[in-house]
Amino acid sequence: MKLFIHRKDLRTHDLPAWEAIRYSQEPSLHILILEPFLLKRGERYREHSGINFLNHAASLNEVYRRQDRQLNILFGEPAEIVHRLLETHPINEILAHRNFTPYGRQRDNQLQEIAAARGVSFTAYDEETLADLSDFNEWNGRSEPYKVYTPFYRRWNTFMREHARPPYGTALEQLQTCQADQTLLDQYAVPSEIVKQMEDALQSGQAGGHAEYWQSFEHFLTERITDYADGRDRYAWEGTSMVSRHLNVGALSVRDIYQRISTMEETPESWLRQLAWRDFYLFQARQNPDFFTYEKRFDFTDLSTDHLQAWAEGRTGIPVIDAAMKQLNETGWMPNRLRMVTAMFLTKNLGCPFIYGERYFRLKLTDYDNVLNRGGWLWSSSLGFDASPYFRVMNPVTQSQTHDPDGHYLRRWLPERAHLGSKEIHLPGPDAIVDLKRSRALAIETYKRILQTS
Ligand code: FAD
Repeated sequence: MKLFIHRKDLRTHDLPAWEAIRYSQEPSLHILILEPFLLKRGERYREHSGINFLNHAASLNEVYRRQDRQLNILFGEPAEIVHRLLETHPINEILAHRNFTPYGRQRDNQLQEIAAARGVSFTAYDEETLADLSDFNEWNGRSEPYKVYTPFYRRWNTFMREHARPPYGTALEQLQTCQADQTLLDQYAVPSEIVKQMEDALQSGQAGGHAEYWQSFEHFLTERITDYADGRDRYAWEGTSMVSRHLNVGALSVRDIYQRISTMEETPESWLRQLAWRDFYLFQARQNPDFFTYEKRFDFTDLSTDHLQAWAEGRTGIPVIDAAMKQLNETGWMPNRLRMVTAMFLTKNLGCPFIYGERYFRLKLTDYDNVLNRGGWLWSSSLGFDASPYFRVMNPVTQSQTHDPDGHYLRRWLPERAHLGSKEIHLPGPDAIVDLKRSRALAIETYKRILQTS
């Protein structure tokens, strides 16, 4: 019997591990472990990012149920659960898809050891990225990873045109799934509050389903993609695909997306360029040894918690920052341009180490992804491969005037300012917590020092 562990691959097609299971012709035990570390920490399961994961998990469970297949959802530590499963079931191989965060790596090392101790093999497939990134470790004739985005993208584009991998073919109905032992299911039962949350999401239609996610993507392709290059930064109009919330939990497959794009008469170059940024950050998480440890460069002692709190609650007195944080807190969404603006404001104008903003987004973003979120925060704080230069500090007022000239976005999220004219509406109020000019100058000095001394 095979043991398959679902992770950030909450779908039932295009899964490389399933190819191996089908080929073996053995029955398989499919589990999804809701991990306390990922869901309970910071009560994440009640926040937008946790809710998004649970909604997709509920929807996946429903697909299994409708096809008369078993998905065993358990709550607990993966190492302990897998250990118990190996003790109680005739499993000869564990299969999963890899995750390259420090937590993900440590988890796989543990599972590998547990499996080896019982003479069971453990196979983890790397399926998250579009391009095969093992092929990107030679640049400029030297054996070093691509560190600058533009040459990376050129290479990526050629690679995709020549070697794009079609989606994997095994479907759930081709697999013979089994139910886990009842004692074990009881021992690692999902807490009732989480079960209820998942049931409610299904009943209210909030969980959605694959057809719905795909339809919304098709709508983007037919209605909005031609305006994407100009429209993506006009954030009042939501001109982007919104696929990230499905993509990051693996409910939509990135290979399906690419295959669909390849059938278009005109390649949407500017959109593909963004999709390639995703691969670029996933590449860094594998190849940049500092990617998960840059916080060591910051001195955390003179952090102003009042400033951090004001930023998080949208009380800075800088209209576009407050509007964006309100949108994030209420809906779990923030357009990319405003993620950059709010991140730069926190790390540069307020001098707050990026890790605090990163942590806040981790809970609040519906489309939270450990690597892409960290990548965005590093970029904004001038760290990592091809980051924004240290002397670049986006001015939130200018950004607001440029990308939302009539102030539509500000009027929507800050109704108390809706009566102001298109000029005034962008300007900081008398209660602004920081002087933009002075704090910019200080930030440039500070970041220069951080980058030079490390
Ligand atoms: P579209 O504009 O339609 O782009 C399509 C896809 O391309 C996205 O779904 C995403 O997979 C990829 N993409 C687009 N822009 C970027 C980018 N700048 N970097 C990497 N990939 C990109 N993205 C997340 O998915 N999860 C996060 O947790 C996350 N945190 C971020 C934090 C900060 C501080 C910043 C600056 C950016 C962050 N991003 C994150 C990247 C980006 O903002 C989102 O991917 C994008 O807004 C998602 O919207 P969309 O699906 O409509 O994107």
